[in-house]
Amino acid sequence: MLDADFFRRWMTATATSMNREAERLTALDSAIGDADHGSNMQRGFSAVRAALEEEAPDTPGAVLTLAGRRLISTVGGASGPLYGTLLRRAGKAFGDAAEVSEKQLAEALRAGVDGVMALGGAAPGDKTMIDALVPAVDALGDGFAAARAAAEEGAVATTPLQARKGRASYLGERSIGHQDPGATSSALLIAGLAEAATG
Ligand code: ADP
Ligand code: MG
Ligand code: MG
Repeated sequence: MLDADFFRRWMTATATSMNREAERLTALDSAIGDADHGSNMQRGFSAVRAALEEEAPDTPGAVLTLAGRRLISTVGGASGPLYGTLLRRAGKAFGDAAEVSEKQLAEALRAGVDGVMALGGAAPGDKTMIDALVPAVDALGDGFAAARAAAEEGAVATTPLQARKGRASYLGERSIGHQDPGATSSALLIAGLAEAATG
């Protein structure tokens, strides 16, 4: 079973990897966007880490809803409300359970991803974070390592696609040949699950 500490470790591991990979995320966003995705993710998840330390939420649902709220309030770009919705929806699905199973986590993230698709209007193949998140949620039943591999594959597979949502879509065919920054940060988020599981 996964407790509040697991979810805190997930968010902390994600903040660390967003810091580590910020330059890469920004370089990807400079090719097909406005060169701020790394700083957006760094600012957002650092604020999440700080909020979790300050408020010490004590259930999985409270950890994720606080994280989602903090992303929405600190990230100005498109990715803030989208990631915020993902985590808030997932957190809401947990209610006030003290512990959740991996199956419940998969179901909650499925609800979160549905919320992201409803908010942003993106479907699989539109070259967005959805292209990493959907395969990751599909693979979660096979464990965190499988989800991580699926998210990374999904992110890489955005390269030949033409963007149909978000800022990159303004480039039309010129968005082809570049990996999507949001799909890349989503793979980091999913990788954080495996990191949280190993302590
Ligand atoms: P902005 O584009 O406002 O500068 P970011 O650079 O932080 O925001 O995030 C860009 C990423 O957000 C994209 O690479 C894409 O993955 C994701 N994104 C943008 N619009 C959408 C959308 N409508 N649905 C899903 N994901 C989206
Ligand atoms: Mg951007
Ligand atoms: Mg921006």
